[in-house]
Amino acid sequence: MKKSKLFIARGEELNQEVTGQKGRGEELTTAMLNHFDRFHSLSEIYDRDIEETLLIEELDNIKNPKQLNFERGLVTFSPSSASKCERELFYKANREEKDEQAMFPYQRRWVRNGSAVHAAVQKDLLLAEVHLKNPAFTVEKMPDGSAAWEHNLKDVKQFEHGGVRFQIFGMMDGILRYKDGSRIGFEFKTKSTTLGAIGNYKMKDAQDSHKQQAIAYSLLFGIDEFIFVYESLAKDGWTKGAEAKPDMRAFYFKPNENQKIELLDKFARVTVKVQSEDLPSPEYDKCLFCPFKEKCEQDGE
Ligand code: SF4
Repeated sequence: MKKSKLFIARGEELNQEVTGQKGRGEELTTAMLNHFDRFHSLSEIYDRDIEETLLIEELDNIKNPKQLNFERGLVTFSPSSASKCERELFYKANREEKDEQAMFPYQRRWVRNGSAVHAAVQKDLLLAEVHLKNPAFTVEKMPDGSAAWEHNLKDVKQFEHGGVRFQIFGMMDGILRYKDGSRIGFEFKTKSTTLGAIGNYKMKDAQDSHKQQAIAYSLLFGIDEFIFVYESLAKDGWTKGAEAKPDMRAFYFKPNENQKIELLDKFARVTVKVQSEDLPSPEYDKCLFCPFKEKCEQDGE
């Protein structure tokens, strides 16, 4: 085949790949939102078995924390740190002292509300798979029968990339099974400001930092496809009924090999800097939630 024909053929392949992903993404995100809407159209359910299961799991996690195969001396990264400033990861790896936590009471309540809704959504998913007729999603179960999420799922995995060794440790919101049998990583995020925060104008896709997190999950748990569900904790007026603005959005993400390599490159780069005590450059566009601002200011550029 001539070179130009090769390029055209590869271009068509790529187009088909993108179109295929778009179709798949639309199918999964629509199914996810329908799944929640169908479940939240049911009257409130009390399911004693599920209540009991969740309480037993919680108690078990407190009493018998999962033993993990951490390798001593290896730099450890977490999925939630995937998008962070490399200097912040360097400080974290060196266990530098964090700034005194300056969180206002309303911010604490903000965080508390998000965590409470997280737990509620996980219970909804378990209830939905039992009480919905033909549920589109079920929660994957661990070998001991517990739900594949949070502490039940948490794990650590060692990597060697470009001759550099490090480990990734973390847990995720859940692994679901779609009705076609595929495994889907489920990430749930809340927004606490206004409904507009998840509206079509402000939110065109999942946040980049959340996609980075999913790439790390993909490396740690071997999941290829993800659905991010964003729920606004602010709702439209109670009397709006069927006219109410949507309070939930869903996005599909399938990390590709390049994205996985880029993240491994980043973790390897930070590991080398930690080993050689070579401070990475600051990335000032990532400072908002960084807990090492004072240390960073002392160290300067
Ligand atoms: S303060 Fe900003 S530049 Fe410094 S380590 Fe934190 S995120 Fe990076």
